[in-house]
Amino acid sequence: MGEHVVVLGTGYAGTSALQHLESLRDDIHITWVGDRDYHLVLHEAHRAIRDPDVEDKIKIPVEDIKSAETDFVRGHVVDIDSDDRLVELANGRTIDYDYALVAIGSQTAYHGVPGLELHAHKLKSLDDALSIHEEITSGARYAGTDDPLQVVIGGAGLTGVQIAGEIAELRDDEDLPVDIHVVGARDRILSGQDTTLQQSVEEQLREQDVELHMNTRITRAESDAVELDDGSEMAANVLIWAGGITGRDVMDSTNLETERNRVKTDATFQTSDQRVFALGDAALVEDGADQIPPTAQAAWQAAEVAANNISWTIDGEPLETWTYTDKGTLVSIGEAAVANVPTGPVDTFGSYPAKFLKKFVAARWIADVSSWREAIGSWSSL
Ligand SMILES: Cc1cc2nc3c(=O)[nH]c(=O)nc-3n(C[C@H](O)[C@H](O)[C@H](O)COP(=O)(O)OP(=O)(O)OC[C@H]3O[C@@H](n4cnc5c(N)ncnc54)[C@H](O)[C@@H]3O)c2cc1C
Repeated sequence: MGEHVVVLGTGYAGTSALQHLESLRDDIHITWVGDRDYHLVLHEAHRAIRDPDVEDKIKIPVEDIKSAETDFVRGHVVDIDSDDRLVELANGRTIDYDYALVAIGSQTAYHGVPGLELHAHKLKSLDDALSIHEEITSGARYAGTDDPLQVVIGGAGLTGVQIAGEIAELRDDEDLPVDIHVVGARDRILSGQDTTLQQSVEEQLREQDVELHMNTRITRAESDAVELDDGSEMAANVLIWAGGITGRDVMDSTNLETERNRVKTDATFQTSDQRVFALGDAALVEDGADQIPPTAQAAWQAAEVAANNISWTIDGEPLETWTYTDKGTLVSIGEAAVANVPTGPVDTFGSYPAKFLKKFVAARWIADVSSWREAIGSWSSL
């Protein structure tokens, strides 16, 4: 068999790039490596905070995604040595490659805030969502209407506000004595987004009794409280941190060029090493890196060009460059949703059309990577 390509990561970037590569060439050998043997529809993981049964609807086994010719290796990558062209796994196994595609996503950034990593939940996996569910439901048993459980979410971006919406729905569904606070450093939620979208989502959150504390930073976290930048303290029986991402620690040791552990690439996704490509949250694309958000949408779009460019490199042909197209933002606040799709007559809309669009986009992704049958089965959970 011809060149050996390793694809690292089973997220949006890795899954989509793998499928493009498989459809492009049958003269290469592909090894797909991931620390999970399933693709997680991560942008719907907050749903599992309300309803743990969602778990099965947003996990797609790798066997349902890859072709029979692709090898899957379950393992945690601990090093990528581009000099020796080796990927090292935590169990000591090494995999050599001719070309590598790095798509291992990102990890939560704690920005050096004392106590945050120790005391806060994050949301990067199903287990994270399930442990938030467990802590809220068990904590609420010891709370009452006079002394409700205080849930604080640090970070008012897409992840933070969607978590708040699910917790509000859980509170209402199960009649739990819970107060929900979102603390955000900027003056508005969903920083950088369209102001009508920001306003609509703020209204939804307030309707759901979520208290917003904007222009506020968490400066310290303890087991049951957070300290804020004005010196005051806020009770936090359950603390969830959704205040940013950074590259994975594992990229610390690689000899590829990185910034905050995200692999630097140009708009072809080629890294400082010609045989290594990177995309999705794991990559920092030069020439407009600040404009390319770390989103599933961007990873999904980028994957085809990254796969093409691996193929062009194998053939010694010139590479394509990628341009990001913002197709809009879809935000769920529990059962409600708000859409900002800047192509129609009304950019921002809520209610059933927004809810339908959000479900449809997630279902289309599931159908793309597996089948419409699987997507339809997941519909009610999206
Ligand atoms: C709650 C939440 C809501 C979100 N909502 C939206 C949204 O509405 N719209 C949107 O566009 N984006 C949203 N996002 C962001 C989106 O999920 C990410 O940008 C997207 O997942 C990035 O895709 P990726 O493939 O780069 O990384 P990931 O999807 O994180 O995939 C990385 C993969 O690599 C694996 N991996 C990690 N480290 C290793 C290792 N060392 N060895 C082997 N495997 C490894 C992981 O297990 C995972 O399978 C949301 C994120 C969250 C958490």
